[in-house]
Amino acid sequence: MKKYRILFFFSITLFFVSPADGQKPVSDLKSTVMLISIDGFRYDYFEKFQPPTLNKLAREGVRARWMIPSFPTKTFPNHYTIATGLYPENHGIIENNIWDFGTTFTLGKREELQKSRWWLGEPIWVTAEKQNQRAGAFFFPGTEAEIAGLRPTFWKQYDGKIPNNERVDTVLGWLDLPAAQRPTIYTLYFSDVDDAGHGFSPDSEETKQAVLTVDANMKRLMDGLKARRIDKKVNLVIVSDHGMAAVDQRNAVVMDDYLDYNQTERVLMTGEIWQIFPKIGAPPTAYAGSSDMSGPENEIMAGLKSIQHVTCWRKSEIPERLHYRVSPRISPIVCSADEGWFMTSRERYEAQKKRVDFNKIRGAHGYDNQLASMRAIFVGHGLAFKKRKMTKPFENIHVYELMCKILGLRPAKNDGSIERLKGMLR
Ligand SMILES: [Zn+2]
Repeated sequence: MKKYRILFFFSITLFFVSPADGQKPVSDLKSTVMLISIDGFRYDYFEKFQPPTLNKLAREGVRARWMIPSFPTKTFPNHYTIATGLYPENHGIIENNIWDFGTTFTLGKREELQKSRWWLGEPIWVTAEKQNQRAGAFFFPGTEAEIAGLRPTFWKQYDGKIPNNERVDTVLGWLDLPAAQRPTIYTLYFSDVDDAGHGFSPDSEETKQAVLTVDANMKRLMDGLKARRIDKKVNLVIVSDHGMAAVDQRNAVVMDDYLDYNQTERVLMTGEIWQIFPKIGAPPTAYAGSSDMSGPENEIMAGLKSIQHVTCWRKSEIPERLHYRVSPRISPIVCSADEGWFMTSRERYEAQKKRVDFNKIRGAHGYDNQLASMRAIFVGHGLAFKKRKMTKPFENIHVYELMCKILGLRPAKNDGSIERLKGMLR
């Protein structure tokens, strides 16, 4: 009997604290930006998978036909470009794997990800903190490291197992703080769509389900904002870092057939990008600006010339449109796979053959940023944005200045320009 009385008490309590009823409105909101990244959300998923909440936001606010990612179309370089307005060649995160300081930066090495030395430029959360605003980050590449001496006021160590709704609820909770402590810039990050795209291809039912899952998370966010009466005030900047291409597992280029590893100092490999450092017995920064090197570089380039479905460049010959030359971290030779193909080593390929179903189509990104399959998304929604507007495609370097403008912040030096996007603001 007593047990039931307690249960009754709890259900009454839960009833009263449910967001729709008990939520206090936020009445003193300053100009606020919520930067939401849906990793690997290709530009055509709106039409293809019809996510109801995201489509409603895209319809009501400003939507770019697509957003042009930076090269290479990988996760860390593009997130950090969106955050800083700098091309990867200028912000230092030139790939998901980087060689510098005599060591490697990789996504699995948390102790390196958290070191300031990799992260150049000034991300939006640092710009905000510097100018006496606060930032609250529930994941975004770079938010775990101190950059220019600062971190977001609130930040989280990345843990992909934390449910999306918990991320949403935590960010909503930050909005309930007193105005003096409340952030004006928030980040949210969802990986589901990218995970499904890699595992099952951009055309799969699994990817559709992942899009609908994240859409439900967005619904929860919007309901939370509505309960606080700020769903039309908060400026949502919904982006993705890149798209996704279908990859047939048989489309492998085994690089050992063209490259003699004895001539290399180091090779950083992903399926889509290979960074080749020829042997010269010097640290990688010694390669800066070098264009015509004798010895191993020429020999390696000669070997790579006949390769099919892969393009290899000397650093100095990387097409200008890719903005991928300046950084001393970029290797003297860069190889880029054609869409739908992947590079591998003999050793990796043999191991992969044992565990991969070659009849299954998977997904990948990291290719040329001009490809339609690599196109990303941009949606702006809220007080600062015009309504019901579709804009021309633009490069993701411009998002930083747009966020600065909305927040009333002086932007740090960057590669973007407010001139390009100011037409979408009221
Ligand atoms: Zn990504």
